[in-house]
Amino acid sequence: MSERITKWPGVELSAADLSEGKVTQTRFRPNAKYAWSAGEAMSRFLAELQDGRLIARTCHSCKRTLFPPRMFCEECFRPTDTWTYIQDTGTIETFSVSYLDTDAKRIPDPILVGVISLDGASPKMGMMHYFGEMTKEEIRIGMRVKAVWKPWEERRGSVLDIKYFAPLPEGKK
Ligand SMILES: [Zn+2]
Repeated sequence: MSERITKWPGVELSAADLSEGKVTQTRFRPNAKYAWSAGEAMSRFLAELQDGRLIARTCHSCKRTLFPPRMFCEECFRPTDTWTYIQDTGTIETFSVSYLDTDAKRIPDPILVGVISLDGASPKMGMMHYFGEMTKEEIRIGMRVKAVWKPWEERRGSVLDIKYFAPLPEGKK
């Protein structure tokens, strides 16, 4: 017989507990200088995100459009051929209702995350992201969604330049 655990032992630490000095800690700022390249395909992908566009690579041999873009086709063993813009609308492939935040801290209101197949990309080219403007009761596999972009001035060339994917308004499926 197992009983549902309602109270957890110990004290959870939050990011604020650390920043406000509530726990013993040490800080060290290393003088490390480095540069890191995301590579040709990923660099263009991130730069295009900042402009509110999703870009993929098409392979002329297998006719697939690879997203996120890759310079090499893993099916044909040859370089991909052209840059292709795809839509910021898509279909939920799978999702998860998470009661843990990004600090792995328990949260009462779950966050919804999952994989979206974007329109214009070939099948099985999923993008992982958050879902918004829907409840855990409403979300379902196969739901049509659209990216909600951050305002231009807040974009940083990151996948988080998209705030989340929201249900596509009816009639625009
Ligand atoms: Zn190919």
